[in-house]
Amino acid sequence: MQYDYLQLLDRARSVIPEQAYTVSRFEIPKANVLIMGSRTIIQNFKEIAERLNRDPHHVLRYLLRELATAGSIEDVRAVLQGRFSKESVDNVIARYTRGFVICPACGKPDTKIVREGRLAFLVCEVCGAKNPVRSLA
Ligand SMILES: [Zn+2]
Repeated sequence: MQYDYLQLLDRARSVIPEQAYTVSRFEIPKANVLIMGSRTIIQNFKEIAERLNRDPHHVLRYLLRELATAGSIEDVRAVLQGRFSKESVDNVIARYTRGFVICPACGKPDTKIVREGRLAFLVCEVCGAKNPVRSLA
């Protein structure tokens, strides 16, 4: 069974007062992208994962899937096969942040991913909301 995350998000938003979103001052981190030959280097990749408070390998897995490429983490950087603009990398990071970091109930980034069997949930440390997230496995 697959959840339609955006539908759930919309449903959650519709029952939350608008004011809850204006409180959040969280800024989605931007990638520092360098294209070298046929590879794309995200120079501040580890820093991005730290800002999002997520396992860098989880962020990378999402990035590689969304960009349909291969890549690896080298020290603090991520190295992707192929050339990708800063804009496309930033877009994917923004989608990751909305899907796997920001609480759909209160809009805060203070969340963690909790696994229960084959399911994964985004659990908010601020409001306690628990929402299913897509599995990247
Ligand atoms: Zn919350």
